[in-house]
Amino acid sequence: MCGIAGVFGHPEAAKLTYLALHALQHRGQESAGIVSSDGTRLYGHRAMGHVAEAFSEERLTKLPGDSALGHVRYSTAGDSSLRNCGPFWVDHALGPIAVAHNGNLTNAETLRRTLEEEGAIFQSTTDSEAFLHLIARSREVTTVERIREALKRVEGAYSLIFLTDRFLVAARDPYGFRPLVLGRLRDAWVVASETCAFDLIEATFEREVAPGEIVVIDANGVRSLQSQPAREARCVFEHIYFSRPDSVVFGKNVYTVRNQLGRELAREQPAKADVVVPVPDSGVPAAIGYAAELGLPFEMGLIRSHYVGRTFIEPSQSIRHFGVKLKLNAARSVIEGKRIVVVDDSIVRGTTSRKIVKMIRQAGATEVHLRISAPPTTGPCFYGIDTPTKRELIASSHSVDEIRDYLGVDTLGYLSLDGVLRAAGAADGRGFCHACFSGDYPVGVRAQGGG
Ligand code: 5GP
Ligand code: SF4
Ligand code: MG
Repeated sequence: MCGIAGVFGHPEAAKLTYLALHALQHRGQESAGIVSSDGTRLYGHRAMGHVAEAFSEERLTKLPGDSALGHVRYSTAGDSSLRNCGPFWVDHALGPIAVAHNGNLTNAETLRRTLEEEGAIFQSTTDSEAFLHLIARSREVTTVERIREALKRVEGAYSLIFLTDRFLVAARDPYGFRPLVLGRLRDAWVVASETCAFDLIEATFEREVAPGEIVVIDANGVRSLQSQPAREARCVFEHIYFSRPDSVVFGKNVYTVRNQLGRELAREQPAKADVVVPVPDSGVPAAIGYAAELGLPFEMGLIRSHYVGRTFIEPSQSIRHFGVKLKLNAARSVIEGKRIVVVDDSIVRGTTSRKIVKMIRQAGATEVHLRISAPPTTGPCFYGIDTPTKRELIASSHSVDEIRDYLGVDTLGYLSLDGVLRAAGAADGRGFCHACFSGDYPVGVRAQGGG
């Protein structure tokens, strides 16, 4: 998964992009990159790690100009290495261009094979680089037309920002899988994956970039081109798990939706218990809604450490469930002697949830009831979320009763898809992708790994 941001027409474009990326850090922690433009050429820097590690004050001064774009990455296509970090930038016949991409192309392999047969030399193993090859090879006479043509040849999920020496482009695939929003900061224009990035830089939210839309921002202002007719299938998992709760995504505040998911869950899957405990952080808003709906007390019975890095030195006398224990600890004072409802957003492999349940039992819970504010995850995502293969998804091959037994809980309850869609504001069930829960994939996937 990835987060993207762009700024057009501000003297501190790179610095604002850096801050926007910081607000989008939850969308990708593997690498960060920024490309800026001073009207004559592009300047770029990419590095592994978090935004704050990847950029120093000095680094940012080497990214001059009044427009910029940036990217934070969590690999979904291509391995984790510097050559696969976004953004990508090149010089082609019509000038310099950079791209930041969130999403996954479903025809990436065939597209790459075709381009390579035509002579393209790829520098990375990501699907994102294909956009630049398509633009470079196009016969159209303007860069914007070349972008439009390139977008017609790719399939799948893309929220995109392009930057040239003269303008910035924001575009979204016809399904609108991944979010992308447009905002203003006085005379400057800003684009980002989520509105939480605007809040930090004090920009105002204008509107969503529409599915299938291409927005061109240059010295004359903003104009909009429809590249392809919209076939809306926004990713419902953005609301369930991925986006930040303070963002407005697909026109709805994420916290409000999650709270509503919890309320729907309480109606569908009530539990007789003494206290509601969220799995932090992602389970918190749904747990608050769940507790409120049933009139049960809400307590932080699991405490999360915010200082867990990628790797940690383990003592030679091994500690059971070390990884989970580093991150979470059960608060005995909340849990001991009580019937606990644990609320989380999703179960993927089930391995983490199982350890959390053990931890809660060890802290003295008399009963553990697990409630999930989404349906069972039965299939992988091919549109940019890093879910494991179908085989690794516990719900792809196990019934709810079997999962309950594996996790060691007294009862297990999932929210129905109808409940999810109601909470997300799609009572008619339309406009959203829910393929990882329903198997109803909006775009077919040609033989490839995906992820
Ligand atoms: P499991 O029990 O399946 O091992 O882990 C469940 C936990 O994984 C849940 O708390 C859920 O919030 C989290 N989760 C769900 N989807 C993702 C994802 O795409 N990335 C990460 N890092 N965690 C996820
Ligand atoms: Fe989102 Fe699931 Fe659809 Fe992927 S398959 S886009 S995670 S709803
Ligand atoms: Mg979680």
